Amino acid sequence: MMLTDKTAVITGASRGIGKAIAVHMAELGAQVIINYNGSEEKAKEVQKEIIEAGGKAFIYQCDVSDFKQCESFVKEITAKFGRIDILVNNAGITKDGLLMSMSEEAFDKVVQVNLKGTFHMIRFVSRQMLKQKSGRIINMASVVGVSGNAGQANYAASKAGVIGLTKSAAKELAPRGITVNAIAPGYISTDMTGQLKEEVKEKIAAEIPLGILGEPMHVAYAAAFLASDEAAYITGQVLHVDGGMDM
Ligand code: NAP
Repeated sequence: MMLTDKTAVITGASRGIGKAIAVHMAELGAQVIINYNGSEEKAKEVQKEIIEAGGKAFIYQCDVSDFKQCESFVKEITAKFGRIDILVNNAGITKDGLLMSMSEEAFDKVVQVNLKGTFHMIRFVSRQMLKQKSGRIINMASVVGVSGNAGQANYAASKAGVIGLTKSAAKELAPRGITVNAIAPGYISTDMTGQLKEEVKEKIAAEIPLGILGEPMHVAYAAAFLASDEAAYITGQVLHVDGGMDM
């Protein structure tokens, strides 16, 4: 399975799962555009790591929650690279809290980044993919978007929204050879889950059938497969990468 000469845009690729996807897609031959919002230094480190390994990588700052910024981002990369073969909507945030005390700001911000950010990028990238009559879009959902989670109503709602968006986009774009799928990771060891106390992590791991928390590369392998030619007949699906949590 290779991604030779494909142009891949990965949002939120300065850290965690997005970084692993960028590194792995570059290993498979893609030139990758590493999007970040605030972590410029980390994005540069990812770029350096890829280039030192013989790959091609570019960095681009864009807040995906901003419609206009996404429009300019996509316009610039389309002008520079001529095509976009793969879009991974990975950027995401959490602002956890119990529903009855959750601020409106905490709800709106999470939906704005996770769900609207995904919409913004699909909105602009799909125009280019429609012209090409090809493309792969992969959206990062979450196991909690399927099963819900106490203390994460905003996050779970945003990720359930990503799943609905994925299926609708898959139906709209299928006639032009563009596939749209989602990945629903379980608990993956990144900064996002890093704040959890050790005993909480142990409790979570004990409830996962495979018995361990996932690593970013577990998700990267799934994303690379969905982006590959081998996944040409798969669209509108939610691939769980969760050690068996949701079954
Ligand atoms: P992470 O380590 O916290 O990294 C988040 C990434 O998103 C960073 O690169 C960050 O960039 C970027 N980002 C945040 N807001 C952004 C914005 N407005 N515009 C552009 N980029 C933005 O998170 P992660 O754990 O790797 O999670 C990646 C994705 O997987 C998210 O969608 C998350 O919801 C999903 N997920 C994670 C888990 C898990 O257990 N970790 C489970 C299920 C789903 P800057 O640092 O530059 O701001």
